[in-house]
Amino acid sequence: MDKQPVTVPGQRTVHGVGMDSQTRCAHYHQVLDVIALRHGCCELWYPCHLCHEELADHPARPWPAARGAEPAVLCGVCGHELTAGEYLGVASCPACQAQFNPGCKAHTELYFELPAHL
Ligand SMILES: [Zn+2]
Ligand SMILES: [Zn+2]
Ligand SMILES: [Zn+2]
Repeated sequence: MDKQPVTVPGQRTVHGVGMDSQTRCAHYHQVLDVIALRHGCCELWYPCHLCHEELADHPARPWPAARGAEPAVLCGVCGHELTAGEYLGVASCPACQAQFNPGCKAHTELYFELPAHL
């Protein structure tokens, strides 16, 4: 399985397993699975938590609520970056209209430490 990082249009480097050019990975590779997530532990971008588990040498931590103003989600199609709050409020990329997989939001707690009011 290919473990080479992929550079998306915004020039971010995404680390994952078996990725295509739009950050789909070996675990989540449906047409809508185009986002990458920044991890709070190492500040690196991964297409999913399972890629992090395979490649990183430490436990994953969600993006901290205290840094909620910084982008933590990346559109793999155009490279547009969103904060956790922005991402949770949209169904598709605000920049290129690529649809995001609604299923990803079912496990947002893996990725974002949400402020209590959200
Ligand atoms: Zn990490
Ligand atoms: Zn993955
Ligand atoms: Zn986009």
